[in-house]
Amino acid sequence: MEGCYLGSSTASDNAQKRSIQQNIFAIKNVNVIQMTSGASVLSDATVIIENGRIVSLTGPIPDKAKIVDGSGKWLIPGLIDMHVHIPTDGHFNTTYPTRNATVFTSTQDVMTPFVANGVTTVFELRSEPGHFGQRNEILRGDVVGPRMALSAMINGGDGSGRIANTPADGRQAVRMAKAEGYEFIKIYSQLDADTFKAIVDEASKQGMKVIGHIPNAFNGKIQEAFVPHFGMSAHAEEVFKQTEGSGDQDPKQLAKLAKDNGTWLCPTLIIIVAALEQGRSLEGLRSSPNLQYVHPLLQSKWLTANNYNKSATPQSIARLERMIEFNNSLVRTCKEVGVPIVAGTDAGSSGVIWGVSLHDELELLVKAGLTPQEALISATRLPATWLGIDSVIGTVEIGKFADLLLLEANPLLDINNTRNISGVLVNGRYLDKAEINTMLTDLSSRNTALKDKYVWKKRGEY
Ligand SMILES: [Zn+2]
Repeated sequence: MEGCYLGSSTASDNAQKRSIQQNIFAIKNVNVIQMTSGASVLSDATVIIENGRIVSLTGPIPDKAKIVDGSGKWLIPGLIDMHVHIPTDGHFNTTYPTRNATVFTSTQDVMTPFVANGVTTVFELRSEPGHFGQRNEILRGDVVGPRMALSAMINGGDGSGRIANTPADGRQAVRMAKAEGYEFIKIYSQLDADTFKAIVDEASKQGMKVIGHIPNAFNGKIQEAFVPHFGMSAHAEEVFKQTEGSGDQDPKQLAKLAKDNGTWLCPTLIIIVAALEQGRSLEGLRSSPNLQYVHPLLQSKWLTANNYNKSATPQSIARLERMIEFNNSLVRTCKEVGVPIVAGTDAGSSGVIWGVSLHDELELLVKAGLTPQEALISATRLPATWLGIDSVIGTVEIGKFADLLLLEANPLLDINNTRNISGVLVNGRYLDKAEINTMLTDLSSRNTALKDKYVWKKRGEY
């Protein structure tokens, strides 16, 4: 499994060699937050990186090394966003029709916000062929971007994409996804109960982990959705939705259900906070300093055809407020009960911007009751473990890939210090603050230049 998206299989060895910088780096006199289970912090360490791997935490500095002064700085593993949606040309052209224009995305432009924010691995939860293309560009070294884990989404009903409405079709959909090269299965809301169960069972037989929504079929009987091998709930609000008004919306009971079944939680607190904010007003989004890094067609859509805003009512706003309260208490209770929590954002949804949203999520997880240390673990070691790639990423240890984030201040004292980035190592390639700023400035000017070309129009408006 890991060979596919980490570039360590035989087939992609050459690509991998090209993609990493052959340079030797030394980050000297730095504080290292290893994120290992011992929770150790190494002070005054000297981290040596050769050919994309960490080879020492104590020096000595080789002759040819490029030296980065880490004095007073803090080194943590690169961050992992466990719930993202990345634009592809295919997605734009089937979903966002424009007048007289085929929509093109530059892979570098959609990946820059991740690496600029220290996000070095992402889990794409609605993958399509274009994502394999993006992943290959990154593995070849043509694009600086995060490692990509890809899940195939299976839904029921009469929607589009992979649809399964019988257990037999569900099993077949899993086998086809496996044959196409996907590593994971995402299940979605319109599946019926028996098809859902068959998909989860078949995925386990195929060695594929399952993440996803809790289908609406389990509304009022959520306990029946916690079947063996249902690996992760993709949102806390799914738990809210399927228990709303049922009288069994007790976070403690629900956390225990997840714990007993081995189901992890990806709360995606930011998506509901963003939905509420946009429901109230679009001014925050319009003036966000990060909007300039979003593809102009999406900027246009988010500001002119924003469903959170257009469909908002006092009732829907009050419901989102209740949901946020529930989500926070579910996070707190899962922590108490011992359900592993991982950080994810639903980036790519309206108003949730790639990269920066992970820092928002970390802040929200701490507000909900995690310690800064626990929040950092939820975005490093734990997701690497769930994805099955913890032998190569997720902690700062000898032998691991050099996916690292160098911070100006200690994130254990204030989680917002993860935003204070001094440099990022992505697959052994070092981007200092100046280089990151140049990438962002270039991206912004390209997006701005295309603003008149990409204006959101609804189907039928032209
Ligand atoms: Zn999503």
